[in-house]
Amino acid sequence: MQNQVIEDYLKAIYKIQTTSGKVATTALARRLKISPASVTQMVKKLSDMNLVTYTRYQGVELTESGMKIALEVLRHHRLIELFLAEALGVPWDKVHEEAEKWEHVLSEDMEDRIDALLGHPTRDPHGAPIPNRNGEMVETSRLLLADQKAGQTVEIVQVHDHDSELLRYLGGMGLYPNVELQILEVAPFEGPLTIKVADKEYTLGRKAAEQIFVRLL
Ligand SMILES: [Zn+2]
Repeated sequence: MQNQVIEDYLKAIYKIQTTSGKVATTALARRLKISPASVTQMVKKLSDMNLVTYTRYQGVELTESGMKIALEVLRHHRLIELFLAEALGVPWDKVHEEAEKWEHVLSEDMEDRIDALLGHPTRDPHGAPIPNRNGEMVETSRLLLADQKAGQTVEIVQVHDHDSELLRYLGGMGLYPNVELQILEVAPFEGPLTIKVADKEYTLGRKAAEQIFVRLL
């Protein structure tokens, strides 16, 4: 079994585990775009390697060593994204795909150098927290922009990193982490939000607003 495959599984399990608690093999299959049957097979192998525990009813859960690897890969991924964005000027909608490849081959030495060059950052270009060397990090707020009310002022904390079209759409409105915006109107029946960013008004689709995490100001 390739290291890269193992790391991708552990990372996917980590992400589902932190957002929804239980990790069903079906959810994992959907996320990895692999058939449920092969996911179940793979999960059993990971369990033999003591990286996850798996029971039919409890689903998949990372063991301590599985968690350690998942956080290490996340650290690589997010550091690389920031390195590409800050040091090489790669646009934020292009860094994720690249980091998906680099994260598996980064040596500890390069990791440390990138970390130092960037001044030991704690957030990637999409606002996601970067685990430190010990695997510690502060998860971001789980408030969705889509759930907020008209009249509120919020600050963007994090946006999802995997949809480059969405990132370009948001970038076009200046919607980046740490940017403040006002919610002027929320259309009923899951309609769009009217927002104000840097004195400009925009209509933001509901689907996009569901991909943005904010904190209230
Ligand atoms: Zn990413």
